[in-house]
Amino acid sequence: MQALHALPDPEALAQSVSEQDFSAVAKALNLLDDRRPDARQRAARLLAALPKQRLHNAGHLVGLTGPPGVGKSSLTAALVRVWRKRGLTVGILAVDPSSPISGGALLGDRLRMLSGGLDASVFIRSLACRGEFGGLSAEVWPMSLVMLAAFDIVLVETVGVGQKEIDVSKLTDTTCFVAQPASGDSIQFLKAGIMEVPHVLVVNKADVGIAARKTLSELRATLQPPSHAEDWRVPALAASATTGTGIEALADSLEAHRIWLVAHGLLAPVRQRFQAEWIIKRLLEEFGRFGIEMLGGQPRLLSSLVEAEGPPFEQYDTLRQRLLGRWRD
Ligand code: GDP
Repeated sequence: MQALHALPDPEALAQSVSEQDFSAVAKALNLLDDRRPDARQRAARLLAALPKQRLHNAGHLVGLTGPPGVGKSSLTAALVRVWRKRGLTVGILAVDPSSPISGGALLGDRLRMLSGGLDASVFIRSLACRGEFGGLSAEVWPMSLVMLAAFDIVLVETVGVGQKEIDVSKLTDTTCFVAQPASGDSIQFLKAGIMEVPHVLVVNKADVGIAARKTLSELRATLQPPSHAEDWRVPALAASATTGTGIEALADSLEAHRIWLVAHGLLAPVRQRFQAEWIIKRLLEEFGRFGIEMLGGQPRLLSSLVEAEGPPFEQYDTLRQRLLGRWRD
C-alpha cells in the first residue's frame, strides 16, 4: 500500500502519461484503483488534466470479448504484431470479471507469454475486478481513458459471452466478439437478442477447417442487413491466431469501424456517452436503482448527462451530493 505522501502530483502525472511514459501510465492506473479520499481527489484531477482533444477525437478504444479458450489472448498478440508493424503504439487492459481471485491475472499473464516475441513497447495491464452486479467494474472506463491519452490503440480484453460481458461495448469505440468454431452459443445469443450485436465478429481457429467455416456462415446468416445505407455493416470474418490468417483483415475491419465513426461525427458523442454510462454505473453501485429513480430514472439521467459538459468526477459528485441532500431531507 502506498503511503499517502507518496501519492503523485496529478497534473505532472497527466503530462507524463501523454508523453507515453510507461511508469507514469502504471502509476496513473494505480491511482485510479485507490479508494482513499485523497487518492480519489487526485484521480479526479488527473482525469481533468488529460489532453481533451486526444480523449474526444483521437486514438481507438477496441473491446475484444468472447468465451474462455476461444483464443482472445492469442488473437490479441497477433493483432498487436500487426499494429506495431503499422507503426501504432498499443496499450492492453486485460480484464477478467469472472474470477476475481485467480482469473484476473491470467489473461494478462497469458498474453505476456504469448507475446514473448513482441518488443517492449506494448503496455499490458491485467485487472482482476468485477462490478457490483457482475460485468465490468466502473474503474475500467477511467483506466482506459488514461491509456487512450498515451497510446494510439487501447485494447480492452475481457472474458465472456452474453449480455454482461458485452458490457465492454459501453466503454470502447469498437467491440469485437470472438466466436468459437462449432459453438452455437454466440449464434443463439445473437438471434435471441440477448447479446448486443458487436461491431465486428470474428470466428477464430479458422485453421480447424470446416467447423469454422460452418460457424462463420451461420453467424453471417444471423446478421441483419443495415436498414440505412449509411449504417455500419457488421463484418463477420474468419481468422487464425495460430497461422496468422485473417489477422490483417481483422485489424482493417476494426480500423474501418473507427473511420466510419469519425466520418459520421460519432466518435466524440460515443465517448461522451461512455462518460454518462460510467457516472450512472457508479451511482448505481453506491445508491442502487432507488437512487437512480430519485434522480429522474435512468433514461432521463442518461440523456441529460450525454448533453452535459464537464469532468466526470465533478458531475458524479454533484449528483451524489444531490442524492445525499435528499436523503438528509
Ligand atoms: P482465451 O482464453 O480466449 O484468451 O484463449 P487463448 O488465447 O488462451 O487460447 C486458448 C487455446 O486455443 C490455446 O490452447 C491456444 O493455443 C488455442 N488457439 C488460439 N488461437 C488458435 C487458433 O487460431 N487455432 C487453433 N487451432 N488454436 C488456437
